[in-house]
Amino acid sequence: MLSQKLHDAINAQINAELWSAYLYLSMSMDCEVKGYKGFANWFYVQFREEQDHARIFMNYLNSRDANVVLKPIEEVPTTWNSVLDMFQQTLQHERKVTSLINNLASIATADNDYASVNRLVWFIDEQVEEEESAREMIASVEAVEGNKYGMYMLDKELSSRVYNTPSPLASAE
Ligand code: MG
Repeated sequence: MLSQKLHDAINAQINAELWSAYLYLSMSMDCEVKGYKGFANWFYVQFREEQDHARIFMNYLNSRDANVVLKPIEEVPTTWNSVLDMFQQTLQHERKVTSLINNLASIATADNDYASVNRLVWFIDEQVEEEESAREMIASVEAVEGNKYGMYMLDKELSSRVYNTPSPLASAE
């Protein structure tokens, strides 16, 4: 059985993942209205991935016979100064998410709840990738900043990013 503390913290994490989805959807819409369809696509893929993160946690709670409690999702910003600003905010946000995931792992470890620790390992690895890809995007945008052609080419390149179902959901299909 999950401890009440871990159960509550995972429900809070589901809300945080859905908030992340909402944040990236908002960034995607802001890119789209500014004419950056490729960047919009990048953030839209991110939006879908965040919904998957919430789904993985929901599946996990259900599998442990613990109920999912969905709370209201706080509002998100609707406009950013630049694409660079969005990726900087993305990195900052993902660092915060990493600390939330680490906190879940600490609770599960203190509970000697190894099934939960095992589930959280996937998220720990995922956060390394999330922070890395945000840093890569910052570097890419910085490399062409102020150069309209460079931004155009980068935007074109990002339109090819495709969504992939994360392994914990793919294997559940
Ligand atoms: Mg996430």
